[in-house]
Amino acid sequence: MPIYEYEPCSGDCRICKKGFTLNRPLSAPPLEKCPLCRAPVRKLISTFSTPTFLKPLSTAQAKNAGFKIYKKVGQGEYERQ
Ligand SMILES: [Zn+2]
Repeated sequence: MPIYEYEPCSGDCRICKKGFTLNRPLSAPPLEKCPLCRAPVRKLISTFSTPTFLKPLSTAQAKNAGFKIYKKVGQGEYERQ
């Protein structure tokens, strides 16, 4: 779930005056207007908390990235793939 952060705007709105953050589903586009006062808001950064980045590399990806892949073949034994 990405966290969208919005820049404070110059209005006097209780939501966007100081900036705000929103949790929105990935499928939802970032807001372009403040949900309360409809002033245009600008997205600052998206902090992604999706598990994609925590997923381990696949063997092929690791090889492409220059890692040597070792498979554990027994007690204390590793075979280079
Ligand atoms: Zn507002």
